[in-house]
Order: sequence, then structure tokens, then C-alpha cells
Amino acid sequence: MNKAIWAAPLLVLGALGAAACNEAMQGEFLGDGVTQAMLEGAGEDHANWITHGRTYDEQRFSPLDQVNTQNVGDLGLAWFADMDTARGQEATPLVMDGKLYLTTAWSKVKAFDAATGEPLWDYDPEVPGETGVKACCDVVNRGLAAWGESLFLGTLDGRLVSLDRNSGAVQWEAQTTDPEQAYTVTGAPRVIDGKVIIGNGGAEFGVRGYIAAYDAANGEELWRFYTVPDGNEGGESPQYLQDAAETWNTEVLRSSDAIGGGGTVWDSMAYDPELNLLYFGVGNGAPWNRAYRSPGEDGTGEGDNLYLSSIVAIRPDTGEYVWHYQTTPGETWDYTATQHIILADMEIGGEERAVLMQAPKNGFFYVLDRETGEFISAEDYIPQNWATGMDENGRPIFNPETRIDETGEPALVMPGPLGGHNWHPMAFHPGEGLVYIPAFEAAMVYEPEADWKPDTARGFNVGFNLGAGDLPADMGFRREVYGTVKGKLMAWDPVAQEARWTVEFAGPWNGGLLTTGGGLVFQGNSGSEFAAYNAADGEKLWSFAAQTGIVAPPITYTVNGEQYVAVLAGWGGAYAITADGALVDHQGPVRNVSRLLVFKLGGGEELPAERELTAIPLDPPPSRASADTIALGGTKYARYCAVCHGPGAVGSTVLPDLRRSGTLGNAGAWSAVVNDGILKDNGMVNFADSLSREEIEAVRGYVIHRANEDKAIEGGE
Ligand code: CA
Repeated sequence: MNKAIWAAPLLVLGALGAAACNEAMQGEFLGDGVTQAMLEGAGEDHANWITHGRTYDEQRFSPLDQVNTQNVGDLGLAWFADMDTARGQEATPLVMDGKLYLTTAWSKVKAFDAATGEPLWDYDPEVPGETGVKACCDVVNRGLAAWGESLFLGTLDGRLVSLDRNSGAVQWEAQTTDPEQAYTVTGAPRVIDGKVIIGNGGAEFGVRGYIAAYDAANGEELWRFYTVPDGNEGGESPQYLQDAAETWNTEVLRSSDAIGGGGTVWDSMAYDPELNLLYFGVGNGAPWNRAYRSPGEDGTGEGDNLYLSSIVAIRPDTGEYVWHYQTTPGETWDYTATQHIILADMEIGGEERAVLMQAPKNGFFYVLDRETGEFISAEDYIPQNWATGMDENGRPIFNPETRIDETGEPALVMPGPLGGHNWHPMAFHPGEGLVYIPAFEAAMVYEPEADWKPDTARGFNVGFNLGAGDLPADMGFRREVYGTVKGKLMAWDPVAQEARWTVEFAGPWNGGLLTTGGGLVFQGNSGSEFAAYNAADGEKLWSFAAQTGIVAPPITYTVNGEQYVAVLAGWGGAYAITADGALVDHQGPVRNVSRLLVFKLGGGEELPAERELTAIPLDPPPSRASADTIALGGTKYARYCAVCHGPGAVGSTVLPDLRRSGTLGNAGAWSAVVNDGILKDNGMVNFADSLSREEIEAVRGYVIHRANEDKAIEGGE
């Protein structure tokens, strides 16, 4: 069998004369704080970083050029700050008036003097530990928004919180989601004209997606835009939802509490002030398998299921629909279009075009007209096999063999649910005219789950057997399979729709990007390194041994005219928590040392010595369960446990490896955790509503069985 077929169940889951301007911009914030004029002019403010993507067009390009291709070799550590968790770190810090603000795991916020690292204040929203089980992809947070003298935070348990940026004191809190459902918030809010805008996640669990606006003054909800119908659309419903209802089997949506349709808006937004259009990306369907989400008469998947996997443009003042473009009609592979959206102007075919660009999970790089939503072009940036191309309207031409919702047959599909590019921000360099993409190659076998039923209480509601690609207990084979999963840093020409250069990495899931006027691209990676590349040709010019995998995007800013580059280091997120801890980078374990790293020319600070990583040896009790019990345990494990503890019970370096659990040999202790939930404050809730005591014991039998298989090969090849 082709080795790649096993690969991903693994994987369940943008020199411009800055100096004079810098001086002029210092002190910009002395006054009443961030205004709409400042947000719209953020591109001219070279000193600060006041909104998530630095500017409303989300280019993540800074004109700063003090650090450049000539002197980047002199970049050194200026200061660092340790975080208080060892979970995924995905945040983009904000910098205002020489103060740096960031979010860390469990939605905590920290403020520092941006030049010295002196801690200023901390805020902990005290998210209940049991919220962790609602998070598909680690307990991460991607950042803050600023307005006036306030900062806005979305918490994992769905609250929007306004903080005084000078003290960290809470000004107001608003619950943006139904706490009874599996909604989470991990994305960074944006602010447009005093409205704080935030979406949510949870499409793996069955929720109905939306994005909403709240009054920055008091948290009052101003509008809410649902991305999918609920099956009750009538004459009073907005026209766009009535139109969407025509593309679904709305009977299923109406009749099930657990099939909310998905379409969550969990990350990307961009704003064009001239057109007054807010753009956002919409996620995958819930469940993934369209045959269960929107069945036709014969039971196979039917309908485009708007507005799943779409880019949507709305009016930020009212939430009124303007246009949409659906990247993956009838999506069934977890092909979200929530990936980073970049706005830029460029000449295409002799014409100056105002474009919107995205590299969603499905492997195609899209260029759209951002005024009308008109399709301009799309080409695949990584190998994919679900579409044979696009028709002239930009509708994909499907490969019928990969339509597992129609065939019911398992198929190897590229990319898998991790996508060809995930949440990690891209960057655009206007001088080079290139978009830099943190891409990867990782396929998956999608095996439809027969007789699947949704579960409102716990576990992944996707309609596929996520245990289908578990790897056998053969270390050489596992290494070979992991060898097929690649990471890439690509410089993509959006006009020619082709790569200008590519840097390859041993492992996937490398960091988000920053480009600068100094001709540089900065990126951290899974190989525990933070590096700078020449934006023109990809030559690596500098690197720093970070002691930890890095997934978050860097930023740059100045204090008193001196340029700093900062990145929040710390391994985590969807791939990190489900990949084999021993093989994730093909070479060895990737550690999590959660730490803000800040660099400047001539910086001479040093990190403390690297801690030894000691693995607990595999020492399971003998396997005594029957083959039937082990099989039952394996099925339940794949649906309820694998998303956090790893496919095939092979753990990551981020969350506990159950094969090494001290409770494995004690049925009572195992039950106290899984049935009674004694570790719920750590995020390990009870599964009593979803799994019987017999099934919980069967899962223990399965993990013991797997641990014994792997004990025989541990350390060997
Ligand atoms: Ca998803």
C-alpha cells in the first residue's frame, strides 16, 4: 500500500524611508487612544503594531528597515519572558507607545515594557479547565484588538472582555456564545468604528457558525450574521439565508440539535475602508461528511451548503450581506476557508485590480476582485487530488473518486484535514509583489463511518472513522510515513499564480510570517528555530536556537527609534497535539517552552540552559482484554480520545501520552478520571454521558494493548 495513505490520521485533525517617519509617530497615542483614523492609517505608523494583521488589509508587512539583509546576522536576543503554561502559543502581540500586549494559552493576557521586558500587568479570565474538551485544536488564543484606551479579548469559553490597557482592569464582559453548546473562541477580534467583531469555533462538535459585532463601549450585541441556515428560513429571514437554505437538506438541520451545520468564523477577517466591506472566512461543515449533514434522496451528500468554506463580504456597520465566493461547494473534507485573507492592489492582465487573496485548506491559492467577489484566478499551491481544475466561474471540477460523501468508499485525499495551509498567517511584500505561505503536504484516508449518529455531549461529530489510518507498531514504517509529511515556506507570485521560491522543512506546522522593508521574511519553525530569509530569493540569512517549536507569527516595532522583532514561541495546536511526539519533526520530539522572544541588533541576552526532556518508559500491564473488547475500545478511542491524546493512542509532546499513564493498570483509577472526571480542572472532563462503564473499560483495554505493541518497538527501528 502507498505509504502516504497512512500519513494523516496523524493529522486529524505580506526600504521605504522609515526612519524620519518613526520619529514623527512617537507619542501618537498620547491622547485618547486608538481611533478609527489611526486604524485606517496603521500602515504609516511604523513604530507601533495596533491591529492583528498590522493593517486592515492584513498584509503583515512592516516598512521598518533598520534590520535588513545586510545586518540581520547581528540580530540578538534583547529580552525574553516565560509564559505560565506549556500549551500552544498562537498569538500576534500588539505594541502601542512602547508597551507590548499579548495573549497566551487559556486566554490569559500579559503586558510588558516593549524595550526592557519589564512586566506591567497580567489578566487571567479564569476559563474553566473543562472548556478544554470543546476545543478541537488546543487551548490557544490568537490575539487582541485595541480601541480607545481598551483592549478586547475573546476567551475560550466564549466571552468578549474589555480591558483597560493601562491597568488590565476589566471594563465589561459579554457572553458571545451559548455556554451549553461546544462553541469556543480562539481568534483575535477586530474593531471597526467602535464595533468589536468576533466569531467562534466548534464545527467539529456540531455548532452553527456566526460572526457578530459588539459595542466597544459596553459590549451590547449590535448585529449577528449566521453563515448557515437553521432550516426555519421564511419570509422574515434575511434573503442571503433564504438563498442558502436552497442549497441544503434543511430537514436535517431542523430536526437535530447536534447538526448545526458548522460554518464557524474562527479566524480570518480583513477590512477595506474605502469600499466599507468587511471580509471573513467561513469554516467547514458539521459534520464533515456531507452524506450525514445534507443527504439527498439516495442518502448520499447533496447541495453546495452555503456558506460553508466561503469568503464573505458584509457591511461592518449593519452586518448586511454583500457578496460571497465559495471555495469548496458541498465540502466534506474539513476544507475551511477561515485561512488568512490579504488585501492588496496589483496589475493583472494590464489592469489595476483591487484583490483579495487566500490560500485555504483545499490547496488552491485564490485571487478575487474584492469589490465584487468576481473570481480572477486560482492554482494549486501544493499537490491536491480532489479537483481537476476550475471552470471559468471559479467553480471546482471535482474528482469523483474523492467524493467520499457520494461513493461511501474510503479514499486517500490530498490535502487532509490539516489542509495545505492552516491558520498560520501568511505575509505580503509589496516591493516583491509576493505572498509568503507557510504551507505543508499531508494527506488523509477518509473512511465514512457507517451508521454514524451525532453526539451532543462529547467527542468529534465528523461522520468519519478517524481511526482508519492508525499506524502499525513498526518504527521504520512510522518513520517512512512521517517522512511523507512535509513543511514548506513558499514565496507565491499571485499574478503568475506560481511559486518563485520554496524552502522545505523536515516537518509541517511551521510558524506564521512577517515581511519587512529590510527585505526579510521572518519565521519560526517546528525544528525549534527562529529564522530570517531574504524575501527575494529565500536564502536563509540568520537563525536562533529557540529550544521549542514555534507556530505563532512574528511582529516588529520600534521604541525610541530602535527596531525590535518579537515572536511568541511555544509548540502546540491541532497537528502538535495529535502527531506522534517522537516523530513529529522526523528527527525527535518537539518541545513546548512557552516564551516570548524579543530581538534587536546587537542584543546579547541568553536563554537559560535547555532542560532535559525525559520520556517515561513504556511499562504497561499485560494485555488481557479480548479481541472484541480491544476492537470496541479502539472505535470509541478514535471518536472520543484521539483528538487530544493522539491517533492509535500514540501521544504528542503537548498532552498526556495514555500509553504511559499511571492509571493504566488500575480500572478504578481509570474510571475515576474518565467516568467521574476528577481531572476536569486540567481539561479532562468526564465522558459518562457518551461512554458506558463497559466502553470506558474497553478503551483502557485498547490503550493497554497499544502500549504493549509499542513497548516491543520503543527505541528500536
Ligand atoms: Ca475544522
